Amino acid sequence: MELLDGTPVAKRIREEAAAAARAFVPPPRLVVLLLGSDPASEAYVAAKKRAAEEAGIRADTVRLAPGSPPEALLAAVGRANEDRDVDGLLVQMPLEAGHDRSRVIDSIDPEKDVDGLHPQNVGLLHQGRPRFVPCTPAGVLALLDHYDVPLAGRRAVILGRSELVGRPLAALLTARDATVTVCHSRTLDLPGVCREADLLVAAIGRPGFVTADFVREGAVVVDVGINRLTSLEDAPPSLRSSGRIRDAIASKGRALVGDVDFDDVSRVAAGITPVPGGVGPLTVAMLIRNTVLAAQLRSARGARSLPR
Ligand code: NAP
Repeated sequence: MELLDGTPVAKRIREEAAAAARAFVPPPRLVVLLLGSDPASEAYVAAKKRAAEEAGIRADTVRLAPGSPPEALLAAVGRANEDRDVDGLLVQMPLEAGHDRSRVIDSIDPEKDVDGLHPQNVGLLHQGRPRFVPCTPAGVLALLDHYDVPLAGRRAVILGRSELVGRPLAALLTARDATVTVCHSRTLDLPGVCREADLLVAAIGRPGFVTADFVREGAVVVDVGINRLTSLEDAPPSLRSSGRIRDAIASKGRALVGDVDFDDVSRVAAGITPVPGGVGPLTVAMLIRNTVLAAQLRSARGARSLPR
């Protein structure tokens, strides 16, 4: 079984992006809009800012107080859209109740949409002429390419059909000539469908859901899920005996686990990503890459200073 470690792949992508970022004066600039004070969102935003700054990208977090009205968020998006010094813009999800996610995404300038969620970018991806590809599925593809996982003609099964992960990943794998099946909560005989896969990607947000009986011997398994367990009682019975999870909860008060039961699936898979350290680092790396791409595209059409 090969461990598909995302860390070295992410490091290379961030170094390449940093080299490209050095061509710009002023440096590429990313704005992250953060509404409220959700601890997981705070942690994600801090990680994005840190990675951006390490790559020589100026990253600003614009905070909106918890309970800010939809108009305040839309106005903040509008200001970043209009600001010629801003190359990339994203709104950290999930939003608080009372905000219309689609309305917010639609309001982002599609040429600054580094999360790749605006309908214009989604359309371009599905037409096979991608501009900004959502960071997590782009990261999955980079990981598969790094480890030379064959895609053309192979059967790929994706668990989860979200706009953020499952659907864009299906478009990317289809464009690479894989035969793709997308599963969801209404799929019948989920383990049976998954067992047909040469490549199985889990992105459902259910800790340890995918067990060995979902996986054909020799398949490659990519675990996108990031689930926070704060007590062993939250874990499915199969994960409760894991020493790593027990120790993490005891020492840090929480454990990060994927959608795949790693120990069980490792017995049958040819390759598997860890959680943490698999797809997660690549998501951040792809955001850095997309921000540099935004600066390059804006530069090419004279919307910002020209590269040196
Ligand atoms: P999401 O928007 O909640 O979508 C979940 C998808 O999984 C839906 O399509 C849902 O089906 C399906 N699903 C849920 N329970 C299922 C079940 N029991 N059987 C079959 N399908 C089921 O989630 P998301 O944003 O795509 O995120 C998925 C996971 O990836 C989460 O753990 C999230 O934290 C993680 N994630 C990680 C990264 C990273 O950087 N590694 C980035 C983004 C997300 P329906 O459509 O039928 O409801």
